[in-house]
Amino acid sequence: MSDNIENSVDDSKKNTVDRRNFLRTAGYGAAAVGTLAVANACTTETKTEAPAIQTKKKFEWKMVTTWPKGFPGLGTGAEYLAKIIGEMSDGQLVVKVYGGNELVPPLESFDAVSKGTAEMGHGAAYYWKGKSEATQFFTAVPFGLNADEMNGWIYYGGGQQLWDEVYAPFGVKGFPAGNTGVQMGGWFNKEINSIDDFKGLKMRMPGLGGDVLKGAGALPVALPGSEIFPSLQSGAIDATEWVGPYNDLAFGLYKAAKYYYWPGWHEPGSVLECTVNKKAYEALPKDLQHVIEVACKATNVDMFGEYTARNSSALDTLINTHGVSLKRFPDDVLKKLAQISKDVLSNLAAKNAENKKVYDSFAKFRSHSIKWNNISEVGYSSARQYLE
Ligand code: CA
Repeated sequence: MSDNIENSVDDSKKNTVDRRNFLRTAGYGAAAVGTLAVANACTTETKTEAPAIQTKKKFEWKMVTTWPKGFPGLGTGAEYLAKIIGEMSDGQLVVKVYGGNELVPPLESFDAVSKGTAEMGHGAAYYWKGKSEATQFFTAVPFGLNADEMNGWIYYGGGQQLWDEVYAPFGVKGFPAGNTGVQMGGWFNKEINSIDDFKGLKMRMPGLGGDVLKGAGALPVALPGSEIFPSLQSGAIDATEWVGPYNDLAFGLYKAAKYYYWPGWHEPGSVLECTVNKKAYEALPKDLQHVIEVACKATNVDMFGEYTARNSSALDTLINTHGVSLKRFPDDVLKKLAQISKDVLSNLAAKNAENKKVYDSFAKFRSHSIKWNNISEVGYSSARQYLE
C-alpha cells in the first residue's frame, strides 16, 4: 500500500517533472526561435547596412544651493542627490553642484531655478515665504508634523499636489529631498523658566517659529548660518537655534552659550527640498524625470538617517566632552508657545485663499496624525523607559 502510495507520489512527481521539462523545453524552444529570428534579422541587416545605434541625449544641469559648499548634512545631502542622479541615469543627466554664493547668493537660488539660470536647487521651502507664505508649510511648522508625518502628508496626504500648486506660478517643481528630524530648541545664556523670559530676548529663529517668538515678546532675528556663531559670541543676539547636535557641534555654539534647550517645538521635522525648473523638467524624457523623483526620495531617507545617527553621537560629545547643560522647556512655556502657534497659523490662514487651502490640509492631517502618533511612536518611545 505504502509502496503504491509512494509510487503514485513518485508518478505524480514524475508527471510534474515531465510537465516542467516540457514547459521548459517549449520555453527554450520559443526563446531559441526568437533568438534565431533576431540573429537572422541581424545577419540580414548587417549585410545591407550597419545597425542604427541609438544615442541617448545627455543633459548637463546646474544645481544651486542655500548651503555653504560641502556643509555637513545639508550641503553634503545636496551633493549626494546630484551624485546619485548621475549614477542612476548612467551619466545621461549630470548635475554640477554650486554652494551658496558660488553661482548666486544662497537666498537667490529659488529665483535662479525659476528663471532657468540653474535647472535645479537644494534648500528649504520656508526661505521663500517672500514669494508665498504658504511655502512655509512644506518645511516646518511650529508644533506641526515630524519627519515621518511630513512624508505622510506630502507623499500620501495631498501635500505634494498643494506644493506643486504653490510653486506653479514660479515655473518651479519642488520635491522633498532631505530631513533634519526634530531640531533642538536652541542655545541660551539664561534659563527659560517662564514665558516672560522670552520678553525682549533677541533670538535667531527663522520662519513661523520666529513669528511665535514675537508673540511671546521676543525679538526674532533671521540670520544666515554663517553669521550665527559670531553674533552669539559678540552678544549681538542673546540666543539662537540652528539645527540639532550634529550641526550645532560643528558650529561650536556650545562655546558661546551655556544652556541647550529641548524640544525643537518650532522645527519638528524640517524638510529640505530639491527644486527643479519646470520647463527643464518637462523637457526630460520620462525615465530621467523618474530618476529625479526617486533620487529625491533616496536623499530624503538618507539624510534623515544621517541626522538620526550623527545627532545621537554629537549630543553625547556636547554633554560629556564640552559639559553642555541640557534643559527641557518647562511645560507651562511649551503650553504657551503652542497656544501662540495656533494663533500664528490661523492668522496666516486668514490672509489669503492659498494659505488657507494649504493650512486646512495640513491641520486636518495633523489632527489625525497626533492620535496615531500618540499610540505608535510616543507610546513605544515611552515604553522604552523600562529599559533603564
Ligand atoms: Ca533651525
